[in-house]
Amino acid sequence: MTVRYGLTMFPYTKEADVEIHSLLVEETARQRDKLRLIASENYVSAAVLEATGSVLTNKYSEGYAGKRYYEGQEFIDAIEGLAISRAKTLFGADHVNVQPYSGSPANLAVYLAFAKPGDTVMGMGLSAGGHLTHGHHVAISGKFFNAVQYGVREDTGMIDLDEVRDIALKERPTILWAGGTAVPRIIDFEGFAAIAKEVGATFVADIAHISGLVAAGVHPSPVPYADVVSTTTHKTLRGPRGGMLMCKEEHQKAIDRAVFPGLQGGPHNHTTAGLAIALKEASQPAFKVYAQTIIDNAKALAAAMLARGYDLVSGGTDNHLILCDLRNKNTLGKPLAKALDKAGISLNYNSVPFDTAKPFNPSGIRIGTPAMTSRGLKPEHMDKVAEWMDAVLLNMENESKLTAIANDVKGFLSDFPAPGIPVGDLG
Ligand SMILES: *Cc1c(COP(=O)(O)O)cnc(C)c1O
Repeated sequence: MTVRYGLTMFPYTKEADVEIHSLLVEETARQRDKLRLIASENYVSAAVLEATGSVLTNKYSEGYAGKRYYEGQEFIDAIEGLAISRAKTLFGADHVNVQPYSGSPANLAVYLAFAKPGDTVMGMGLSAGGHLTHGHHVAISGKFFNAVQYGVREDTGMIDLDEVRDIALKERPTILWAGGTAVPRIIDFEGFAAIAKEVGATFVADIAHISGLVAAGVHPSPVPYADVVSTTTHKTLRGPRGGMLMCKEEHQKAIDRAVFPGLQGGPHNHTTAGLAIALKEASQPAFKVYAQTIIDNAKALAAAMLARGYDLVSGGTDNHLILCDLRNKNTLGKPLAKALDKAGISLNYNSVPFDTAKPFNPSGIRIGTPAMTSRGLKPEHMDKVAEWMDAVLLNMENESKLTAIANDVKGFLSDFPAPGIPVGDLG
């Protein structure tokens, strides 16, 4: 079931606000007609879209089930309860909080629960593939705390746990983070947990990118090892935009208090309902197949790129993500990403470890397979994707060639309907 609207999409918006209406239609067409390779993006189901656009957005419900500060919570409590119990079952977690507004506030709640301003905290550096919220100097995590960062080895592109341990022993962080936004390889969560234990740190695994793979059982889970597991809900997990914190029973109070009243007010109930639906979807056999295909597609695309002489950080991928170092191709990431976009292929430019270029025009691009896999693309299509990308690289200034590729991409994708998006005239 892919078509969920009549010939006129967003009919009420069309009546209320023609400017926003036409932008909504154009963005819908963009998501339908372009090959979306941004590693953090996906297509949610029509059911998840429906819930996020529902009357639940009208309801305030500060607090937790049974202890709310407003009346009229009988349905909200049930919805939040379903989201929590589904997440607990799916991930095998002792306790789950589904109220964080997104991944960044979820991580901020972790700091609030376990650290005081000025404490030493430790995470992976942004340029090595970590996230801003893990102690980057421009972010609150780097400004309010004494953040120390670890990276990857220059020769392997992978985390060196001996180096992580050395830094941790020297710096004695209160919180140790594992996880990132541009990490193409499996992280040794058990190894991180042992280091955290040795230095007395709270170990937090941030699985924002990979939580769908973890839920499906096609990627190792940190849940048995981590004090806290943080995730977004909208990346590989394919739910609405949001965040979620899972933890050991002993941390339940600290986490819940940090999220509310520590950091946030009322939870976004429309998101919670969408999340409950997404978690139900993720518990089904079809999602396991989906998640495995994400990985199979990434490996096939990596192989097709390697065959064309592309240099991939760490030499390949174990997950949904490929980080490509373009320095041997004599281009920077930004001009290539812009040319790819003109050719109907949307991804992001990205720093690579030990990058010699500036973050706003770095040496790499990041490629992810979750969104295209949601449309049904399979490993046998990945050579074609690599071929398009290579043709763009060789024709970056050739506008008519880029337009021709965009038309090819659009034609090809018309056989792969995107979840939640109608085919045909979007009016
Ligand atoms: C995406 C991401 C976040 C932040 O999530 P937002 O929803 O964008 O705030 C945090 N940590 C990691 C590792 C991420 O990839």
